[in-house]
Amino acid sequence: MPQHLSPREILAELVGFATVSRDPNLPLIEWVAGYLHSHGIESFQHRKPTELDTKAALFAHAGPRVAGGVVLSGHTDVVPVDGQSWTSDPFVLTEREGRLYGRGTTDMKGFDALAIWAMVEAQQRGVPLQLALSYDEEIGCVGGRDLAEALVASDLPRAASVIVGEPTMMKAVSGHKGSVNFWVHVHGVEVHSSILHTGVSAIMWGAKLIEWCNGINAQNAASTPGPVAAMFEPPYTNVHVGQISGGTAHNITAKDCAFGVGFRIVPGETTEQWVTRFKAEVARLTEQMQQVRPEAWIEITPMFEVPALRPGANNSAETLVRAITGDNASLQVSYGTEAGHFQAAGYDAVVCGPSDIILAHTPDEYIEIAQLEAGQRFMDRLLTRLG
Ligand SMILES: [Zn+2]
Repeated sequence: MPQHLSPREILAELVGFATVSRDPNLPLIEWVAGYLHSHGIESFQHRKPTELDTKAALFAHAGPRVAGGVVLSGHTDVVPVDGQSWTSDPFVLTEREGRLYGRGTTDMKGFDALAIWAMVEAQQRGVPLQLALSYDEEIGCVGGRDLAEALVASDLPRAASVIVGEPTMMKAVSGHKGSVNFWVHVHGVEVHSSILHTGVSAIMWGAKLIEWCNGINAQNAASTPGPVAAMFEPPYTNVHVGQISGGTAHNITAKDCAFGVGFRIVPGETTEQWVTRFKAEVARLTEQMQQVRPEAWIEITPMFEVPALRPGANNSAETLVRAITGDNASLQVSYGTEAGHFQAAGYDAVVCGPSDIILAHTPDEYIEIAQLEAGQRFMDRLLTRLG
């Protein structure tokens, strides 16, 4: 019999693959595929279309081939360690004082390890269970859509529920905001600043668009939230500019100004309605700029979009997690996860995983051994319920 590794042993293997989002994840995926195969579990890969040789998502089914079951879903990529000061090698799982240190231990290879462990258990116990591992989550949740679509299109029996194991301290998170993000490039016209009125300062027109964002935030903050929005903090959609560059010199109107704009959208409001409003403002400003110089314009490039996870009644994934954990508190978060993509693909989805989101992305990221053990008890109870 091949060796049935413990969650901790699997975690040590996973941490050893430096799967920073900009780098390949294929060696990790191949390892998982090989490990599952050694236990008689066939897995399937969805290669990233633009990085066929280096990035893949993986999905697999263990146990009897019946529909209506559960998918355990995690991402395999991690954020970089550049510029962070680590006490030990971030890509070597290291125990100190009841904690396991390493990049991704919390976000979210700890859950991935538990899910892989549970797959082998499921196969041995004859319980149906599915696994879905994605790429490119940390750069805008972009791999989640590919994965959810590939899973739906696959020959695997159609599961009903998805548990996305982002760190929640094993509590059920039943809702999160969606997001849509743009890169804005304002194309101005350079003139000497003494004759500013004959040119178009990309910076000063960009500022008008940013001020529109400030206005949206103020307007939304002042409005009365609906029942779904009221579950979130803050209870409204907001829009943020996180990065900006532009201009050449003190006395030249800026030819270029570029900045990133991100909306965090409460469930119930659609991405489309915010995109429409944003584009209308861009068009309005462009028209005004072109009255000064017709060659001026505002270019917007969609960056990424994460659908919201809409809290609601009759969510089988939420019901299942609550039955296992006994946790009945209503919990929503304002960051996006792949659960939104799964819900958009027709699954019931909930977020529940070990460790605390505040440890994610930090230097000396760790998971408490007690959290890994809590995760293992969760998986064990899950298998008992599904058996
Ligand atoms: Zn994550």
